[in-house]
Amino acid sequence: MPWLSGLNSPQTEAVLTTEGPVLMLAGAGTGKTAALTARMAHLIATRKAWPSQILCVTFTNKAAREMRDRVGGHIGPAVEGMPWLGTFHAIAAKMLRRHAELVGLQSNYTIIDTDDQLRVLKQLIVADGLDEKRWPAKQLAGLIDRWKNRGLNPADLGADENEAFANGRGEQFYRLYQQRLKALNACDFGDLLLHMLNILRREQDVLDDYRQRFKYIMVDEYQDTNVVQYLWLRLLTQAKGPAGHNICVVGDDDQSIYSWRGAEVANILRFERDFPGAKVIRLEQNYRSTPQILAAASQLIDANSERLGKTLWTDIAEGEKVRVIGVWDGPEEARRIGEEAEALIRAGISLNHAAILVRAQFQTREFEDRFIQIGLDYKIIGGFRFYERAEIRDALAYLRVIAQPSDDLAFERIYNTPKRGLGQKTLEKLHRHARAEGVPLFAAAMQVVDSDELPARARNTLLALVRDFARWRDGAASLSPAELARTVLDESGYTDALQNERSAQSAGRLENLSELARAMEEYETLGAFLEHVSLVMDNDRAESGNPITIMTIHAAKGLEFDHVFLPGWEEGVFPSQRALDEGGLRSLEEERRLAYVAITRARSSCTILHAANRRIYGQWTSAIPSRFVGELPDAMIDAETSMTGGESLWRANWSEQSDPFAHLAKVQPSRVTTRGPGWQRGTAAQFDAAPKRIVEAGRSAASFAAKPRKDIGVG
Ligand code: ATP
Ligand code: MG
Repeated sequence: MPWLSGLNSPQTEAVLTTEGPVLMLAGAGTGKTAALTARMAHLIATRKAWPSQILCVTFTNKAAREMRDRVGGHIGPAVEGMPWLGTFHAIAAKMLRRHAELVGLQSNYTIIDTDDQLRVLKQLIVADGLDEKRWPAKQLAGLIDRWKNRGLNPADLGADENEAFANGRGEQFYRLYQQRLKALNACDFGDLLLHMLNILRREQDVLDDYRQRFKYIMVDEYQDTNVVQYLWLRLLTQAKGPAGHNICVVGDDDQSIYSWRGAEVANILRFERDFPGAKVIRLEQNYRSTPQILAAASQLIDANSERLGKTLWTDIAEGEKVRVIGVWDGPEEARRIGEEAEALIRAGISLNHAAILVRAQFQTREFEDRFIQIGLDYKIIGGFRFYERAEIRDALAYLRVIAQPSDDLAFERIYNTPKRGLGQKTLEKLHRHARAEGVPLFAAAMQVVDSDELPARARNTLLALVRDFARWRDGAASLSPAELARTVLDESGYTDALQNERSAQSAGRLENLSELARAMEEYETLGAFLEHVSLVMDNDRAESGNPITIMTIHAAKGLEFDHVFLPGWEEGVFPSQRALDEGGLRSLEEERRLAYVAITRARSSCTILHAANRRIYGQWTSAIPSRFVGELPDAMIDAETSMTGGESLWRANWSEQSDPFAHLAKVQPSRVTTRGPGWQRGTAAQFDAAPKRIVEAGRSAASFAAKPRKDIGVG
């Protein structure tokens, strides 16, 4: 059985325990996904099931592809017939095609994207006469998504949910939206799962059919399943008889990082209750990371109270300690990572195996600017390059029209963004006028507002816009580019419109816009900045074929890289300001899990950076290193600072700051550390007062080396 070769004994047990419920609960890098893959190969190769009788759920399409490839490596072309290997959404879509008529759709239904979804919702809101500004479509879309994630149909909404939109009209709009989609023979992403759940609940014969079909069910990253997914699995597996309970889920409660999208870590915690007699398999050997990286991550996550706790160890040879680098500011952070990347290249290491993992999308901008400047190839996964994002392009379009009134493309982009009631008809008139007079659109607008070519309302709106631009153009002479950008975004109503959305994405977009203004602070004139942007946006950059990856930590789940850089470990960036504002233990612990996921992506080196200063709203603000830095074990980190004055300067800074770790004293008395991050040792007296366990946890790397089994002993 070649698919078993190389697996350790608990992994092998997980593969061979094919009957009954199995929970593989284990920390990062312990080979959960590897075992799940081997299990699938085993089931097929030993003819326990045909490929079509296995339902295997992965978190991303990429993970599904990789799994298919790996299983194919074991069993050959038989892997082709595996229709039920994919994400929940992909699998649900496939099922729904077969049963669409049961929920009033035809089998050729379309799956609409977010843009279409918003358009439909907006039509409903406007048709009702509601004020779209007060009750934005985005907000309704967010609510409906959340309800669908929780498996709730319109009739299932409680009073609170109903109250959440337009003063008690949540249910009504949800219902209208579903009717409208049906009329369009369409469904949204959330519907894929909800429709199928409804079908499985209502149609016993369909449910029986799938229960018969799926002899084995497997789920990777189970800790991030949401309610509707959980209900699905419950229905499919709660049958009597041989096919009933063969469910194997794998996950890690410490890596639950999608609660903001409705994931419920409780699903994994109650697995044994849901499936009595479940075999729980714990994997403790980590095959991914050096002992230093593993110890650092384990100690960090140990500060969380809501966790099961687990032991992890590794046989991998000693490596470098986790580096914690303090730099002066954001640009230096980008410079430093650029230098580190160049050093890797000089050492003959391909940057394919290196990644920069950020907490929030806006952080990528500084790296992109720097890498373009030094000609370092990079790729951004799961997001647009900074200057290609919609909100950034909008903002740039305003600035381009200010700098260059004949920039028609830019004018067209923003003349009705945010929505100000200037429609397609007005634009057509402007175009006609511009062509006739041989002038740019903006000049045409100036002329048209003086004539009676347009109806009064459009004329007034356009006039206001033309006047705004005149004022901003004047402003450009006296304001710095960054101030100008902020003024324009405020006065144009762009910021307000985003704020009113209150959608999951709008907060990130606002952050991106502040980041844009921050970037502009380095430029004397608007022209100089815009020139920089066009150079950055130039797509002719040489591709080396070995780009360094930049992505969010969320998107990096399940992946691994030889070298990982983790920038921006400062209070307010990571943990995020939002988590701090919410203030609850819950959101803070989710941030810490995210930090754990980040560190455990690294195989041989992990470098954490934090800057002493960030420029926020035009002000230099001194940033406090993330509490997570302070929670890393001394013995596993190498701290350095590029600041002149080094430690003493830092200590001086530190004493002026309020103690960022003070909150821990309130939350978890036993876990207080008196240590500042890395080099910021507390006073001797403080240090003596530190709980003993921390000193113990910080065993030296040498003591690990002395033992054949490097027990990191956490939990
Ligand atoms: P995560 O929690 O991050 O998803 P995981 O538990 O799914 O991690 P895998 O990605 O399956 O871990 O494995 C981590 C690494 O260890 C991979 O490079 C994998 O090939 C390797 N690996 C897994 N099992 C073994 C084994 N028994 N022997 C050697 N290497 C292994
Ligand atoms: Mg995995």
